[in-house]
Amino acid sequence: MLNIVLFGPPGAGKGTQSERLINKYGLVHLSTGDIFRANIKGETELGMLAKSYMDKGALVPDEVTINMLRSEVLNHPDSNGFIFDGFPRTNAQAVALDAFLESLNTTISVMLALEVEEEELRKRLLLRGQSSGRPDDVNPEIIQNRINVYNNETKPVKDFYLAQGKFVSINGIGEIDEISNRLYTAIDAIK
Ligand code: ADP
Repeated sequence: MLNIVLFGPPGAGKGTQSERLINKYGLVHLSTGDIFRANIKGETELGMLAKSYMDKGALVPDEVTINMLRSEVLNHPDSNGFIFDGFPRTNAQAVALDAFLESLNTTISVMLALEVEEEELRKRLLLRGQSSGRPDDVNPEIIQNRINVYNNETKPVKDFYLAQGKFVSINGIGEIDEISNRLYTAIDAIK
């Protein structure tokens, strides 16, 4: 199995690049943000809970997120592998993911981290807010809150994979195709 953690700050391009990677490598895309948004749209209990955090740019509690992620993985028993996009976002999520994958006799193959500086992220998110309809992309204060949460809670997750020799940094600035090619090169190097 090829199990990729696609890592990076909000606006780094994880969603865009995931679309390409799933097609090229035949993987299942699990974006926790997309799953929460689908639940909000469907007005499920999980959606209502998630919305109260997402609208502020805060993280949904670990326990809720981890349980949801586990059940999504179990929904795809025949998969060649997964792209985890937006997960793990805290150390506790990384620890839980490792234990869960081990119970399925598999593991994370690599963490690919898209590196983009903050000023560029703010620009990209505000631009996306003009068309995405995402409430968390419109208000500069909420965008800044998401970037702060990333710096404080999510960035340290890098060290978890670094310690396992699984961390690969990818330059996230440039043409979309160019960045895809950097990701393909990194993946083909570990396959
Ligand atoms: P982006 O990476 O652009 O911020 P996402 O779609 O990945 O967007 O996430 C949107 C929001 O969904 C986050 O700000 C957070 O509130 C919630 N969320 C997504 N993934 C997680 C996660 N793994 N743990 C906690 N909250 C999450």
